[in-house]
Amino acid sequence: MKITVLGRWGAYPEPGEATAGYLLETDKHKILLDCGSGVLANLFKIIRPEELTAVFISHYHYDHIADLGCLLYASKFAMVFKKRSEPLPVYGHKASPRFSELSFREYTVGKEIHPEITVSINDLQVSFRQTIHEEYNLAMRFEYQNKVLVYTGDLGPKSQITDFCNGADLLICETSLFAHEGGMFPGHMTSRETAELAAASGAKELLLTHFPHLGDISKMAQEAACYYEGKIHLAEINKSIVI
Ligand SMILES: [Zn+2]
Ligand SMILES: [Zn+2]
Repeated sequence: MKITVLGRWGAYPEPGEATAGYLLETDKHKILLDCGSGVLANLFKIIRPEELTAVFISHYHYDHIADLGCLLYASKFAMVFKKRSEPLPVYGHKASPRFSELSFREYTVGKEIHPEITVSINDLQVSFRQTIHEEYNLAMRFEYQNKVLVYTGDLGPKSQITDFCNGADLLICETSLFAHEGGMFPGHMTSRETAELAAASGAKELLLTHFPHLGDISKMAQEAACYYEGKIHLAEINKSIVI
């Protein structure tokens, strides 16, 4: 699996950048994880719209779905011009009425996800776990050819997902707060809490992302390194990690 960062900010993008979005590629898949503000412009530097296999949405906060409307149009154009023959599957939970927005005529089809099901796409298995956040959010676990990727979406430290992240080759975890800011926003993680989750679950590598807009984010990696001995990556646009 190859994971490429398409966006790395919480809430809104810094100039020329993007909020949450990641491309997961294998020899059989090109899957978009969340579709935040500015993500499509970065995605389409790498692949064409018709190449997308599926989209997974963790929750419906704008920093995770702001570009989704334009992605529906991209799928429409791909089908109208016969570059794509099947509607684009867009997976999201039904705990919000926004689920209905995932389906756009015959061009995209919304597919429900929840913690009791496993989605299977061409030998890729995807399972889900609810986290504690301001809105219902699903963390996602992708398993393919004995490799495991976990993407948390947004979550607070009281989320019970250590076992869900167990043995991940890569854990993509939101890190919205510096270590000393614990409790400032209960539905989000500090650098320390992210590192402690990675350590407790035995994750081999950790990607810090979903950054705040004040402070030196490079310090987050330093803070995380005090609590986690695995390899730590700081999200940057276009950065790829292969597991
Ligand atoms: Zn967010
Ligand atoms: Zn959120």
